[in-house]
Amino acid sequence: MHSRRHFLKTTALAAVGAPLMAHLPWQAIPYTVIKLRRDVGIFFERGGTIGWYMRKGESALVDAQYPDTAEHLVEALELTKGQKADVLWNTHHHGDHTAGNVFLQEYSSKIVAHEQVPVLQREQIESRRGDEDLAVYADTTFSDTYQLVVGKEKITGYHYGPGHTGGDSIVHFEKANVVHMGDLIFNQVYPYIDYGGGADLEQWVGHLAEIEATFEKDTQFIFGHSDSPELVTGTIEDIVTKRTYLEQLISTVENAKKEGMSKAQIMEIPPFDENRRELWDGAWKHNLDAAFTLMG
Ligand SMILES: [Zn+2]
Repeated sequence: MHSRRHFLKTTALAAVGAPLMAHLPWQAIPYTVIKLRRDVGIFFERGGTIGWYMRKGESALVDAQYPDTAEHLVEALELTKGQKADVLWNTHHHGDHTAGNVFLQEYSSKIVAHEQVPVLQREQIESRRGDEDLAVYADTTFSDTYQLVVGKEKITGYHYGPGHTGGDSIVHFEKANVVHMGDLIFNQVYPYIDYGGGADLEQWVGHLAEIEATFEKDTQFIFGHSDSPELVTGTIEDIVTKRTYLEQLISTVENAKKEGMSKAQIMEIPPFDENRRELWDGAWKHNLDAAFTLMG
């Protein structure tokens, strides 16, 4: 029994990089917790990457994933209802970032988001039967920036304008110099572009350029999505790569339109970036469709 436990524990730890915790050692741990810098880290399981700050019982959470994975987060960070997180932040309205609000609300003093987030989230929930239970919305909203101090960390969120959706914000843990980018970055994979939910490709490019000019080489970034725990964090170089990809997507589709190509022909354009992968089947075609819809 002992050696079997030890083996599984070692295997689980090897699979998760640098985990913060190692309880449940005899089960396959379905999630990954990585401490990045100072008291800031990530939780990776299903849905958008969660960012967290945790120091001596004071905590802040960025994004909520789903109710079942949010329960794992609570377990991993040892959150309690008696000592709630000072803030749960929703970077945007998508269900894989907000559905866990329903579980996390009892562990959070307030839920903060850009003012468009509850509006878009309500539309999303009302359009899908069976999602009514997930109607837990930010109670504190802002239009441009929002700041708070949690423990020894100063946290500032910024909304630059429409990008991935109409209500994205990024969250800067200033002391640690870690920025949660929400879904403005799908790292090394094709992005989801929510043109029904207020996305704007050209403005998205502009926001990334502004972020490149604002933060430093030393800034560590958390990304909403990629295909492994190691790839949901990175540097300003990853922001540049993503901006360049979006610029190329826009010019590819704009040029095709200028040449008089039909939508059907545009949808057959092969990928220009062979290193970029699909998180779901049809992701590249979705990018073409979104660019076709949004651009001139
Ligand atoms: Zn999203």
